[in-house]
Amino acid sequence: MSQPKILLLGPPGAGKGTQSSNIVEEYDVDHVTTGDALRANKDMETEHGTPREYMDAGELVPDPVVNEIVKAALEDADGFVLDGYPRNLSQAEYLDEITDLDLVALLDVDREELLDRLTGRRVCDECGANYHVEFSPPEEEGVCDECGGELIQRDDDTEETAKERLNVFEENTQPVIDYYEEEGELVRIDGEGTPDEVWAELEAAIEDAA
Ligand code: ADP
Ligand code: ADP
Ligand code: ZN
Repeated sequence: MSQPKILLLGPPGAGKGTQSSNIVEEYDVDHVTTGDALRANKDMETEHGTPREYMDAGELVPDPVVNEIVKAALEDADGFVLDGYPRNLSQAEYLDEITDLDLVALLDVDREELLDRLTGRRVCDECGANYHVEFSPPEEEGVCDECGGELIQRDDDTEETAKERLNVFEENTQPVIDYYEEEGELVRIDGEGTPDEVWAELEAAIEDAA
């Protein structure tokens, strides 16, 4: 399997972005992430308003907006790691219609750990590289190791909005996980180890699916 099609599920802060980078590096697939795509178009006017109105409140952006992003990205990709989508059952049904997956993996992490990860997350304003003030700090505070860019905190990584996002996950995205579990397609990965430990387990699951 040279170009796998991987779906990476998990709550906000589980490490999907971090592990997607490993997958891209190892398997040379496209990283398809609705969160990044929406952040790049936060003030785009749609018939449902702008993505910002939903994102800054921690709510889901309406399905038609995200479905269109995913359809276009998957059409252009041979292999991919899909991160941040589907987040509700209707998105999962849509995904079923437009592609076949080789692996559905869930990064499993407790709620308390998720809040620590989200509120401590910092991202590079220039290249998008991902850090954590405590768990994976840059060499120089506030400066990206990769490109020297400025590290910023996402608008939705405040404690209040992070909590709301975790609630939205429980209500809307947990049923997606149950859906793949019932289909017998879900592989659970312990997401609480170090990034390297999580990667070892995830890579083994990808190799198994080949
Ligand atoms: P995280 O990786 O921390 O879970 P994301 O970057 O994936 O966060 O998502 C940030 C925000 O973008 C979400 O809180 C939501 O408002 C919006 N978003 C991302 N993906 C989707 C999606 N599939 N459906 C609806 N909204 C989405
Ligand atoms: P997601 O894309 O699922 O929201 P991220 O990959 O952005 O998650 O990770 C959220 C935060 O947690 C980031 O600050 C990241 O550096 C940190 N992180 C990621 N994986 C781990 C891990 N295994 N242990 C500790 N911190 C982690
Ligand atoms: Zn950078």
